[in-house]
Amino acid sequence: MLTRLASTTQACEIGPLKQALARIVGEDGVRDDAPTLAFYSEDIWSASSHRVALVVSPRTHDEVVNVVKAAQDAGVAIAPRGAGMSYTGSYIPAVEHTISLDMARMNRVLAVSPEDMTVTVEPGCTWSALNGALKPLGLRTPFWGPMSGLTSTIGGGISQLNAMLGAGHYGTSSESVIALTVVLADGAVLRTGARGVGSNHPFYRHYGPDLTGIFCGDSGAFGIKTEIVLRLIRAPLHEDYASFSFPTGEALLKAMAEMARASVASEMCAFDPGLTRVRMRRASLASDVKTLGAVMANEKSFGKGLMSAAKIAMGGRSFIGDGDYPLHIIAEGRTGAGMAADLDEGRRIASEFGGHEIENTIAKVIRAIPFPPLNSMLGPEGEAWVPVHGMVALSQGPALFAALEALFAELAPAFERQSISTGYLFTTVSTNAVTIEPVFYWPEERRPIHEASVEPAHLARLPKLPPNPAATAIVADARRRVIEVCERFGAGHFQIGRSYPYRESRDVASVALLDAIKQSVDPDGRINPGVLGFPLHAPNA
Ligand SMILES: Cc1cc2nc3c(=O)[nH]c(=O)nc-3n(C[C@H](O)[C@H](O)[C@H](O)COP(=O)(O)OP(=O)(O)OC[C@H]3O[C@@H](n4cnc5c(N)ncnc54)[C@H](O)[C@@H]3O)c2cc1C
Repeated sequence: MLTRLASTTQACEIGPLKQALARIVGEDGVRDDAPTLAFYSEDIWSASSHRVALVVSPRTHDEVVNVVKAAQDAGVAIAPRGAGMSYTGSYIPAVEHTISLDMARMNRVLAVSPEDMTVTVEPGCTWSALNGALKPLGLRTPFWGPMSGLTSTIGGGISQLNAMLGAGHYGTSSESVIALTVVLADGAVLRTGARGVGSNHPFYRHYGPDLTGIFCGDSGAFGIKTEIVLRLIRAPLHEDYASFSFPTGEALLKAMAEMARASVASEMCAFDPGLTRVRMRRASLASDVKTLGAVMANEKSFGKGLMSAAKIAMGGRSFIGDGDYPLHIIAEGRTGAGMAADLDEGRRIASEFGGHEIENTIAKVIRAIPFPPLNSMLGPEGEAWVPVHGMVALSQGPALFAALEALFAELAPAFERQSISTGYLFTTVSTNAVTIEPVFYWPEERRPIHEASVEPAHLARLPKLPPNPAATAIVADARRRVIEVCERFGAGHFQIGRSYPYRESRDVASVALLDAIKQSVDPDGRINPGVLGFPLHAPNA
């Protein structure tokens, strides 16, 4: 029904809609100045050829319901946006007459129940703010955030699936969700989960078919999340760290797979020599006083903290050899003995696959500053940065890595001509998947999203580069080809947006079911048109 959407919206006048929306969210909640519209029409990777017509920032669930109804009446499309920290075209406009629904003002922790072990948040709440609220209570969500969690939101993380903190034991962000409140395209409100007294106290996710799951990883295609209820655990009392170095990617991935099967790590991450080189070129860990302070504060005793900080200050990252594949694991547990046993098993597995133990500095820093400033979205010389990834079965990690290496060898002359450098980040998800994330750095001008996200002091140290469409075109092609390689391995993806194949990769019966769901929740195809591979018109139009 794109034709219908387009023809309706072509006739749409934004002026009256703007006034109607201002009545709902307040004058300060509707913006249409040119820089703001441009800003909300691009993500970290790309700019849309369309420009959002308005940016609307609701403060409450009721305001979202009314905004969605007003948008429906005006016939415009809605692109929900969390913090904008993704890079798969997931929240940018795909058609003319799209309003950006900015969830940043809905950022409250609404309720914590230590008794029932649930926490309810608004979708614009950041992972960092959630953890800040739970820490004094000795509580945590099982999955507790991506590395972007200083600004990235729980709504964005649930709509895309996140991996990282806690994922080794507990899986993705979605696996910590109990219940959702979702506003559908016509303003109807759908609430999922077993909801307790008065349907107001969700406490358990699985009551019949998993309706919550339909909205997890949907890239916002099925509706606007306005409330998210997450499960709580008591924060583990003990944590410790170990780092290892492996001679090859194959050895590393085999060791990571075995550590995942054994469930030794709450989270683990590893780099290839390429990414290690990029990280080395950044300001050294030792020069960052904030890092040292955070590592000291995270240690249980002042003496231990001082020792850790001294080791970082003296050693920097020099303990990682040039061709090495370093792996950093974090173990945690209710008892020190249990945690130590996990770490020892990790050491045994590392040595079985040819790894040797190195300073655990980086693992420590990951826990001391779980949500670092988002400075890594630019390269060490101010280059552009974009990751792409595939998640495969544990047994398939080495073969996927070899296939990607073969692709990069083929592309090496083009990369060299354009000064494009690559690296890999590796992590595991629960006991049954490994994620391989190639990362590209290339000389390209920085954009407003970088200016808004990177710390000003860090930004000031980086050179400003000129536009470089030729290099960006090569990265775009390489990114597409990485995704094709991932398809050969039946990979899954987070952050599907408009970059990874989803609907088109499903069997006929699944596509029929997906289309029927979309038709039911958003018959005119107005909510985030085009994500998940839904056509820009309603499926049965
Ligand atoms: C430096 C850096 C580090 C990163 N580290 C990690 C990491 O460790 N792990 C990881 O998984 N990812 C990581 N990412 C990727 C990214 O930050 C995550 O994908 C994150 O979930 C994006 O959240 P956001 O709030 O910015 O969402 P956005 O990018 O704003 O939106 C993401 C999607 O969610 C939808 N959406 C947002 N809010 C709602 C809502 N209320 N209702 C319906 N749909 C909604 C949007 O339409 C869009 O499709 C990193 C990114 C950067 C820049």
